[in-house]
Amino acid sequence: MTTRTELFNVRTPPDALHTLLARLPKREALEEVPTRDALDRVLAQDLCSPADLPSFRRSTMDGFAVRAADTFGATEGLPAYLDLVDEVFMGQAPTRALGSGECVRIATGGMLPDGADAVVMVEQTQEVGPTTVEAVRAVAPGENVVQIGEDVRTGDPILPRGHVLRPQDLGGLVAMGITTVAVARRLRVAIVSGGDELVDPEQTPGPGQIRDINSYTLAALVKRGGHEPVLAGVFPDEYSALETAAQNALSENDVLILSAGSSVSARDMTAQVVDSLGKPGVLVHGVSLKPGKPTILAVCGDKAVFGLPGNPVSCMVTYDLFVAPTLAYLSGAAAPPSRVVTARLTRNIASATGREDYIQVRLDRRTDGGLDAVPIFGKSNLIFTLVRADGMLKIPLDAGGLSAGAQVEVVLF
Ligand code: AMP
Ligand code: MG
Repeated sequence: MTTRTELFNVRTPPDALHTLLARLPKREALEEVPTRDALDRVLAQDLCSPADLPSFRRSTMDGFAVRAADTFGATEGLPAYLDLVDEVFMGQAPTRALGSGECVRIATGGMLPDGADAVVMVEQTQEVGPTTVEAVRAVAPGENVVQIGEDVRTGDPILPRGHVLRPQDLGGLVAMGITTVAVARRLRVAIVSGGDELVDPEQTPGPGQIRDINSYTLAALVKRGGHEPVLAGVFPDEYSALETAAQNALSENDVLILSAGSSVSARDMTAQVVDSLGKPGVLVHGVSLKPGKPTILAVCGDKAVFGLPGNPVSCMVTYDLFVAPTLAYLSGAAAPPSRVVTARLTRNIASATGREDYIQVRLDRRTDGGLDAVPIFGKSNLIFTLVRADGMLKIPLDAGGLSAGAQVEVVLF
């Protein structure tokens, strides 16, 4: 084993990600799932509308369906008098068509009778007898009515392949009777944590030991991304134990994340283990990034393998930068709308050029309604800096730092 003591071929974060994705075959695996269960899944086909929505003309108001022309010129002083001839019941077709000078009581969402072309809202009417309604304002043809197909027309594209389904999308699909959808199969993402110091959370750590954090944070991140985490366990810094664990985890799953041991000391075996898992092996070892420099990106036998630094902050930053976009790429997901807010930095931050820095920040609401980004500094290995933070502030590669008062973009967790 050659022991290096420094990471030499450091890549910029975008270059590192591109290097990985360029070697990774996109997966085509899809499955049909009930629409009701499809939240956060990636649509695997373009969807077009199978029908007109709405399929009948609907009122948007409680009031009276009329012929608009019968109301022309109506005012408070000179109302239009209409014969109340019927009532439309919700969920039922009108029993008769509307003739001239007539009106029909209708509720929001009710079906317009033939012959009617507008609805006078109830607030602009007065019932002056059991069968007589005064309209005190004119309505235009089509007013307070949703036309057939006004929402979507038969054959209209409704959602593109790659779209990540949201709650309102599920509602829209079932509205059209689309009760199952083809989505990209979920990725099974195995997580292996390495470190002699780690114990399971149920255990009480002995002197020098700590509880495994990363397995659980990573699993939650995978789950939130719409995929399936598989906790493969905690292993000591022993080459053969780690190699066997990694081999098994990779063969049974689609993607492998190894937490910790990704740097170059004698106790860091991740790179060597990854290289043993299949060709081409490690593609990137070292990224110009803080925190997160000792990151490993690899492809082993067509599968993505990540070696993330063990420090929980670095681990989360590098997951966001490399693992999340890879999972999205593999499942054909369109780039998600970013979760970025603009805030005002409360103090100066130094940064070395040639390196992307991620600073954890808390967001405070100011009295003027704007947001303050308050950097949360802490020595590496402080866990609760992450818990106290609302998001991360990126200092670009070429920036030498940021000044207090600067408008900055914060990526929310
Ligand atoms: P390493 O990447 O192995 O050099 O670990 C860097 C730091 O992260 C060390 O302080 C480790 O104890 C800590 N660490 C490694 N793995 C985990 C883990 N799964 N949960 C919490 N801390 C970890
Ligand atoms: Mg370690």
